[in-house]
Amino acid sequence: MTTKIFLKSGRDRSALRRHPWIFEGAIQKIEGAKRPGEVVEVIDAKGRWLARGTFSPRSQIAVRLLTWDPSEAIDPAFFRSRVRQAVLGRDLIRPPIGSSARRLIHAEADGLPGTIVDQYGNYLVCQFLTAGAERWQEPLVAELKSQLSPTGIYERSDVTVRQKEGLHPVTGLIEGSEPPGLLEIEEGPCRFAVDVRNGHKTGFYLDQRDNRARVRDYAASADVLDCFSYTGGFAVSALVAGASKVTCVDVSSDALELVKYNAGLNHIAEDRLETIRGDVFNTLRSFRDSGKEFDVVVLDPPKFAETKNQLERAARGYKDINLFAMKNIRTGGVLFTFSCSGAMDPLLFQKVVAGAAQDAGRQVQILGRLSQPADHPVALNFPEGHYLKGLLCRVW
Ligand code: SAH
Repeated sequence: MTTKIFLKSGRDRSALRRHPWIFEGAIQKIEGAKRPGEVVEVIDAKGRWLARGTFSPRSQIAVRLLTWDPSEAIDPAFFRSRVRQAVLGRDLIRPPIGSSARRLIHAEADGLPGTIVDQYGNYLVCQFLTAGAERWQEPLVAELKSQLSPTGIYERSDVTVRQKEGLHPVTGLIEGSEPPGLLEIEEGPCRFAVDVRNGHKTGFYLDQRDNRARVRDYAASADVLDCFSYTGGFAVSALVAGASKVTCVDVSSDALELVKYNAGLNHIAEDRLETIRGDVFNTLRSFRDSGKEFDVVVLDPPKFAETKNQLERAARGYKDINLFAMKNIRTGGVLFTFSCSGAMDPLLFQKVVAGAAQDAGRQVQILGRLSQPADHPVALNFPEGHYLKGLLCRVW
């Protein structure tokens, strides 16, 4: 017998709009087995079938909806068709992605909630974040294997959000051969070494690819500061595009070692790169006190707000770094400023940056609005999938 989830009266609206999440609080009763990842039928208070999805018994998001078509079963053929569509969608991106690394499956946006798959050359790196994604990984992996014939498929499901699903961290090889300790990728004119075993996310910030290209547009002969540099995605892009000098700031010495390695991969002379291990807030303050200035500053901090409750504190953090950064930019210089907190919408972020400009006493123009690239699409029925936002600003 299939498991049936009956919604409370009036709680069918989001499912009717094809939003893929059903919250625990919307559920009236459950009939049948409540196993993690179980396929469930979602039914409204009047007994009408709404959608089909997978169950997460431990999460506040109790169901991830996969289909609104009653005739579409959740079976290996379902995963085959979703994976095919996701890969085809990437191949159709124009201009082509122009990198040997790309996101192949972007969870809800590709109709596969909880599933992330990134391609790094001949290797695939996966994250399964929900009970449903975990339960159904086998047919998904089989399809990835048959479509892309990767040398290896590696799992990086060591992410804290899995705790909300009652899932333990899992990492390791799923298929084929172990990836090398450092995997090399090409992105436009740049080469990067990626540590897919220990790096953030699946190893690299693929979501900043288009914005790294924008930084290259402004980098020639510039003195660049890359704050929260991680392994130097922006820094190396700027150096390859002819920056005279790049200074990277990050708290992680491992990340900074990889910045240097990546600069070497791109034949950058050592004296054009400086790495500072430290806190960005303190470092920017000390630059301000010593009157140090830059032509281009990149601010790409980690997520300051995980949820709406943390927004106020996060806004203060964003304001502070933007304020300090603006004080360290030469007249007519450029600021690339980002927020990857999904809870902070683009308008609020703009207001925060405006507040920073006011307090810094600088006149700031927006030259461009920055976002995530086309291989990280946003489904219209899941606007939460738009998490990365940024502003390209000129600072007078
Ligand atoms: N810009 C990077 C990604 C940044 S990820 C890229 O495009 O690849 C965020 C980075 O910020 C991490 O490397 C983390 O080590 C660093 N970090 C977090 N808090 C910090 C702080 N207060 N000061 C300096 N670095 C910090």
